[in-house]
Amino acid sequence: MTTGEPAVARRVHVSGTVQGVGFRPYVFRLAQTHGLAGWVCNGGDGVDIHIEGAGQALEQFLHVLPAEAPLAAEISALEVCQASPLALQSFVIRPSVRAAVPITRIAPDLAICEACLHELFDAVDRRHGYPFINCTDCGPRFSIVTALPYDRPNTTMAEWPLCSLCAAEYHDPANRRFHAQPVACPDCGPGYRLVRRDCQGRRPRWDSGDAIAMAADLLVRGAIVGVKGIGGYHLACDATNAAAVLTLRQRKVREEKPFALMVRDLEVARQLAVVTPLEEEALRSAARPIVLCTAAVPLIGVAPDNPEFGLMLPYAPLHHLLFASGAPPVMVMTSGNRSEEPIAFRDDDAEQRLCGIADALLVGERAIARRIDDSIVRATGAAPMILRRARGYAPGVVARIPSSRPILAVGGDLKNAVTLVIDGQAYCSQHIGNLEQHEALTAFRQTIAELLAMYGVNPEQLLVAHDRHPQYRSSLEARAMPAFAVAAVQHHQAHVASVLAERGELDREVIGVAFDGTGYGDDGTIWGGEFFAGSVREGFQRVAGLHPARLPGGDAAARMPVQAAAGFLAALETSNNGIDFTRPPFGFPSRFSRSQAVLSSGVRVFTTTSAGRLFDAVAALLGFVRPVTFEGQAAMWLEHLAGACNGGEELPVGVECGTLDWRPTLQALVDLRLGGVEPAELARRFHRALAEGIVRVAEVLAARHEVGELVLSGGVFQNVQLTRLVTSRAATRGLRVLTNLAVPANDGGLSLGQAALAAAALGRG
Ligand code: ZN
Ligand code: ZN
Ligand code: FE
Repeated sequence: MTTGEPAVARRVHVSGTVQGVGFRPYVFRLAQTHGLAGWVCNGGDGVDIHIEGAGQALEQFLHVLPAEAPLAAEISALEVCQASPLALQSFVIRPSVRAAVPITRIAPDLAICEACLHELFDAVDRRHGYPFINCTDCGPRFSIVTALPYDRPNTTMAEWPLCSLCAAEYHDPANRRFHAQPVACPDCGPGYRLVRRDCQGRRPRWDSGDAIAMAADLLVRGAIVGVKGIGGYHLACDATNAAAVLTLRQRKVREEKPFALMVRDLEVARQLAVVTPLEEEALRSAARPIVLCTAAVPLIGVAPDNPEFGLMLPYAPLHHLLFASGAPPVMVMTSGNRSEEPIAFRDDDAEQRLCGIADALLVGERAIARRIDDSIVRATGAAPMILRRARGYAPGVVARIPSSRPILAVGGDLKNAVTLVIDGQAYCSQHIGNLEQHEALTAFRQTIAELLAMYGVNPEQLLVAHDRHPQYRSSLEARAMPAFAVAAVQHHQAHVASVLAERGELDREVIGVAFDGTGYGDDGTIWGGEFFAGSVREGFQRVAGLHPARLPGGDAAARMPVQAAAGFLAALETSNNGIDFTRPPFGFPSRFSRSQAVLSSGVRVFTTTSAGRLFDAVAALLGFVRPVTFEGQAAMWLEHLAGACNGGEELPVGVECGTLDWRPTLQALVDLRLGGVEPAELARRFHRALAEGIVRVAEVLAARHEVGELVLSGGVFQNVQLTRLVTSRAATRGLRVLTNLAVPANDGGLSLGQAALAAAALGRG
């Protein structure tokens, strides 16, 4: 304070993602630059600043503050009010204040930054080769937080006291590790060790360098190694070693579902796949998701029957060290679990569950507070689309939903994720998984308990929203909660609402199209091909749908495309009676005839409008006659088949008032297939027919309800071919298409839509 100008002072309150992202040191440095005095501290609900000094410098400070904030920070509000100058002489960072109601966002886990990466491989740096290196710009956050506010004692690093050098960095506001909560070094921090299956019981020393070198060596020699990362254990092996990949499939009991790959760098990625600029951007983003890219070379067993690879770049320092120690440049990096179980993240659990799968475990000493899977992104459209929202994104705010009370939306039973709305901010949890599995259900309960505790929500104040399906685990759990009120939300309305909620367009009137596998309909039947009119604010009315089919065997039909085919074919005219579908070109197995018998018996036959099952039926007719080994497999197969062909007019499709009739489409498909037309061409023409049908139904509805926007959601619209066709055809009819971007179009986005509709219903009273 060298000027003679009288000092002025301001109190500033910053809310948003401002803890654990280097915000306080940033404020400190900014204050120093402008010659201002005062203090900054983490409050329970954001960051508080007292700033004083010369008026002009103070104005500049306030101007720059939001503009140059650290990359990982996200400011949702900045309140400035007058304050009295306290004649302070310097600027300091004060210890955190523990507020009664902590409402500060936790930042997601971030990939290692360039500065730390440089030090990691700098032979004279004291953190050279140290797998837990991090700073305020990078490293774990959500995966190590145990309570708020975000401070070292509230993380899984609490048990590692800082050495004098680390402490000096931690307390030096000019240092880039100033208040980096997970800061550590080889002298004071955790390490890694390698536990081999063949010497169980013996626990080697924590020697990161040795452990990583041995793991890399094992991987080169074709072994399967369990690798503890940020949000859990991966199972890794050399992706170019077919024997290793197939062994992993057998041991993990994962028949055909694609394995994700971690590649050493972008150059290696480009040798494997076509990587577009948008895909490169997604690959390099701090969230470091798995990005689906078109495969350019075959890798046996990695992604059977699938033209895409799920690629990711190394994100933990450990991954970089593994590659630098000679690990194979392309590694399978799949979740550490058996089959569809949730990923293992605790060491004892990993040793138990992975012991029959991995030849060795690379165990890190730092505990993981909660399981967080890798996120999955598709970046083929105009903007990246999130297919699985977890590490790097969760638990971020995905939308603003004004509500007079806190809302917890519990999602559905498959691909579960939950959403908590508090003070108008919708926090979406990480992907939790299939609640039919005990471990996922436990994680579901734990996630809810943690979210409520972290944000200081009293469960008795909650409005809890759940799916209308009375038998869903999530519905049963929701209704057992000690909530203020409980609301049931229709599945497909929630899908449509999720798109509008993430865009903040709660008042926009639209035609919403929800196509998926199954959801509980208002009439108790299985819906899955529905059209709605309305808005989130006023609610939706179902105004059209797919022509219904009778499905033999209920849920089992989802695993057997020929079973779905039997159901959909039964709705066609009797002219198909003479066709023997067990013979070429169809070659259906005997299950088809058994399904037909079930249909005529009428026992265990269910009415459905499921678009997912329609895709299954068509896939069966075009050659997918075996059972699926993972959800959505047949539909994905059909999409890829269609992608292999460009030509062909759309097959006929029936559009009547309120119905999209697929019967003419299916009949034409059968006739043309018998006539020798290639499956790829028919797959393409089926996609075109369905897109045309959707747009024609929507066009009529849009005119009737005087709206110009079409919302597409539900798992079926993860099909890029279909979504593109609908979007372009809708545009020619003056309709703008809105889709999910921030949350998945599949049931992973359901809870956001539930929360939005529940808030709106609450507002209507
Ligand atoms: Zn860093
Ligand atoms: Zn240290
Ligand atoms: Fe759904």
